[in-house]
Amino acid sequence: MQQGNVPESPAQALRWVGDRLSRAGVTSSLREARLILAHVMGCEPAEVTARDGRLDFEQRRLLAELAGMRCKRYPLPYLLGYVGFLDFLLCVRPGVFIPRPETEGLAELAVELAPTLPQGARVLDIGTGTGALAIALARARDDLRVVATDTSAWALRCAWENAWRLGVAERIQFRVSDLFEAVPERFHLVVANPPYVPHQKIPELPPEVAVWEPRAALDGGEKGTEVLRSIIAEAPKHLETRGWLLCEIGHGQGEELLRFAKGVVNWLELRVEEDLAGRERYLIGCLGPMT
Ligand code: GLN
Repeated sequence: MQQGNVPESPAQALRWVGDRLSRAGVTSSLREARLILAHVMGCEPAEVTARDGRLDFEQRRLLAELAGMRCKRYPLPYLLGYVGFLDFLLCVRPGVFIPRPETEGLAELAVELAPTLPQGARVLDIGTGTGALAIALARARDDLRVVATDTSAWALRCAWENAWRLGVAERIQFRVSDLFEAVPERFHLVVANPPYVPHQKIPELPPEVAVWEPRAALDGGEKGTEVLRSIIAEAPKHLETRGWLLCEIGHGQGEELLRFAKGVVNWLELRVEEDLAGRERYLIGCLGPMT
């Protein structure tokens, strides 16, 4: 897209971007147009049209470039460089999975459990991505010792930067690890948002996800439950007695995973909870004493 076509007036530029995004199939086109324009103008979204003035050449060039990328369904958080999570912001880069509202729900469940954990409890976040869950827990209680893993060193670097900016980097240890591979110790709480999309379903996801987000963070094998099963199978070796396992799961996977988990070990508590949209989303287990 050419900067020459971009109107100089912010109000018209907003409409110009909104129209293009809408034609490209972006659902919240006007809201996103406002966020992109605010980013380019360096102001709050609400101020975009409240201000007088004109967009200069460089601003129009950047706006045309960002709008063009978004029309190719490049995810908005990658364009802006950040995404909101609970009450904080996380930097996010291409190649790193973008945290979703569903994972905020998982973080809330974990943060609710945090006060019940012993002093200095050990917490593990498997497949941390941007560090969202690990950081939420480190912020919830400053005595927790958090380990965050990912198979991607690139993601861990992003997670470390987020932790550093939010003041919790010293309380989180980052490790490259495939699930529990580099994690010999036991934990009081293990959280994970693993890949759980059935392999065949990936092309049906919106292009933002299917084309631009890292496959390894999505692909849960044939039925979508492969990685979840490995985590559930290994978890008892990495949990303290009465330790908690909290996993994000896909809708329709609850029954299979509950059955599988029951066959692995004796749980004091084991249940599936729904997300805010009323879809099965969280598997919650509390490990019983070994007999
Ligand atoms: N809910 C995610 C999506 O469809 C998938 C997340 C995952 O596999 N962990 O975008």
